[in-house]
Amino acid sequence: MKKIFLALFPIGVGAAMVFWYFDCVNAPMGSLFSDASGLLLALGRLAGLLAAAGILAQLLLVSRAKWLEPLFGLDHLTRAHHLSGLVIPLALVLHPILITMYHAGQGGVSFMTQFRAILGWEDTLAAGAGVLLIIGPVIMSLPFARRFSYEIWHSSHLFLYAGFGLAVGHQLELGGDINGNPYFAGTWYALYVFVLANLLWGRVLKPLWLYRRHRFTVEKIMPETTEVESIWVTGRGLAALPAESGQFALLRFWGPGFRTQAHPFSISRMPDGKYLRFSIKKLGDFTAAVHHSLRPGAPVIIDGPHGVFTEKKCLGDKALLIAGGIGITPLSSLAERFQSLGKNCVLLYANRSQKDIVFRRELRELEQKGGFSVHHVLSSEPGWPGEKGYLDAERIKRLVPDFAERDAFLCGPPPMLAAVKASLISLGLSKTRIHFEIFSL
Ligand SMILES: Cc1cc2nc3c(=O)[nH]c(=O)nc-3n(C[C@H](O)[C@H](O)[C@H](O)COP(=O)(O)OP(=O)(O)OC[C@H]3O[C@@H](n4cnc5c(N)ncnc54)[C@H](O)[C@@H]3O)c2cc1C
Repeated sequence: MKKIFLALFPIGVGAAMVFWYFDCVNAPMGSLFSDASGLLLALGRLAGLLAAAGILAQLLLVSRAKWLEPLFGLDHLTRAHHLSGLVIPLALVLHPILITMYHAGQGGVSFMTQFRAILGWEDTLAAGAGVLLIIGPVIMSLPFARRFSYEIWHSSHLFLYAGFGLAVGHQLELGGDINGNPYFAGTWYALYVFVLANLLWGRVLKPLWLYRRHRFTVEKIMPETTEVESIWVTGRGLAALPAESGQFALLRFWGPGFRTQAHPFSISRMPDGKYLRFSIKKLGDFTAAVHHSLRPGAPVIIDGPHGVFTEKKCLGDKALLIAGGIGITPLSSLAERFQSLGKNCVLLYANRSQKDIVFRRELRELEQKGGFSVHHVLSSEPGWPGEKGYLDAERIKRLVPDFAERDAFLCGPPPMLAAVKASLISLGLSKTRIHFEIFSL
């Protein structure tokens, strides 16, 4: 079923391309492919079509559709959304340029004269404004322009939706090739309905439906370290929620100061059908507000669980877990899960100092049950009798001599992840056996 859904969008876009081709060949003035001028019009229309299809694909990538997300993982889909978002403006800009060049050539007027004339066409001005609204957030996403807070950058996406809304009228009113062909129009409308239905369900209706079903509530809040606290969430019939160790969910706490934001947090303890535990480090505005103001009894709207960083990735019967700082959260629940499956598991846990170690007692208790061992590696704790410094190839090899027999699960700060991944590869571990969770979407 998932594969059928997966095929629908490419089939729809492919069909639109076929319609575009035949409409160009059978244009009233003769095939647009027969001279350079006609080619400008054909390519201009194609650019518009690809831009619109690209934006629809963008929306689909972040729709959190359950037929799409488990196949690739939300992090990969979000990354594909970011990267493809940087290419679409090219098509958006080429579309008016090529169309204007074609009409300027036909009318024997300058590009600017023709451009001004085109702006007077029905819906074109609105579409132009739409393009500017779409390009704004894209520019804000470029590395050199990343001076805005996450919330401001994220809110700028609302302009994108508004811009897309403005451009839709233009496609349907002016896109002669779409309107002139009922099959083309049907396919195009169907693509919109498909994408928007997925988006509305995945992002809005499903979390509300889950809340109605489970009534998620904060049961208790427990400090773990000075900077990390665990939020224990309970709810009706929680056992029916398909939550797995290693996954994460976007949490929207329903209380003053929280409602407007949903943030991702990993499940930090193996789900037991009664509780979902999330452990949150104070890092910025939202997480600080959680630490200071969240109280037991607060309702929680949960979008998820999401993610493919689960025990299913471990094909053998041994695992190596490598965590840095708060990156322990998905790995602590995975360690518990591996233990329950009888899979041997070693955890290398890097922190600055002892006070930063999260779940120290819990990990020790897990060790006592057998089949699991933990090595703490501290970088700034001079009196520490254990491993001091950073995790490198030599240390991994020494602490886990049978590392080559294990699937590796990594979570921590991005520079640490990159260094550890490089170390594992240098030791000969295949990339396909290295799995990681990145704490950024
Ligand atoms: C898959 C995943 C799992 C995570 N699990 C945990 C966890 O178990 N425990 C934990 O303490 N932290 C976890 N995080 C990180 C956590 O989401 C951020 O620390 C938190 O959102 C920061 O919000 P802030 O407003 O306090 O800080 P800010 O200073 O506003 O944000 C710091 C950074 O966090 C990221 N971020 C902020 N808001 C969001 C958002 N709404 N959606 C996505 N990313 C955002 C951005 O990269 C931003 O630059 C996880 C992140 C991801 C993507």
